[in-house]
Amino acid sequence: MRFIISIFIIFSASFSGCFGADEIFSEKRGIPGGLALACLQDDKFDSMELHFLYEEGYDPIAMNLAKTRVQEVCDKPGGVSIRAKEVNFDKNGAWSADDVRDARWDLGNDAMDSDTLHWYFLFPKGTYTDDSVLGVAVDASTVAVFKDSVEESEGFLGRPSSEEVERAVTIHEMGHLLGLVNLVYTSPIDHEDPEHEGHSNNEDSVMYWAIESTSVGNFISGEIPDEFDADDKSDLAGMANGELKCSNQLWS
Ligand SMILES: [Zn+2]
Repeated sequence: MRFIISIFIIFSASFSGCFGADEIFSEKRGIPGGLALACLQDDKFDSMELHFLYEEGYDPIAMNLAKTRVQEVCDKPGGVSIRAKEVNFDKNGAWSADDVRDARWDLGNDAMDSDTLHWYFLFPKGTYTDDSVLGVAVDASTVAVFKDSVEESEGFLGRPSSEEVERAVTIHEMGHLLGLVNLVYTSPIDHEDPEHEGHSNNEDSVMYWAIESTSVGNFISGEIPDEFDADDKSDLAGMANGELKCSNQLWS
């Protein structure tokens, strides 16, 4: 009996961080890449909505670019649409990954409750707890871009510009939702940077590790990429056509 009780205590302690009492029956949130196939294929989700929730004065500039990049790699015969909404995140102090998740699930709806897939892009005021981080992907349908830090990353004499960096960071975080690099599959191509897991070793890819860091201008000398490179696209195509096995998918 004591054994059973202690098992129960361990179980409830280890899960209390993930599920509040009222969240047990709600939708699974997954890991970045957990809805990659949901986007890349049309089996379950015929269309897609990209939701941009932004604080007053923090209007996202890369909404159309995000839509274009999705359309380039995903199969959505019913279309991809943008839903932009100004919100008040009502938060002081730095953002943690949990704060980003909480804000998205408070203000947004389920990612997959219909044949439309919903991804959320948050643009809050303030910085991440590590203020050298420009953007984060926190679950299968949620990313955040920290424009205050993006402004800080603007280079000497405006190169790179904060606009270039914001475009790149937005697409970079979306790339993590698509599972790049090696988040939910293993690429047959050797293009993951061993020192920066989940990132590309090619500075011409938007998935290059330095893209989401305030020091991006120190690491990329030329144009900041806002596109997936050939290796990224090859991975996405392999996932889409089933050649690459995908793990941790929320619905398949
Ligand atoms: Zn990244």
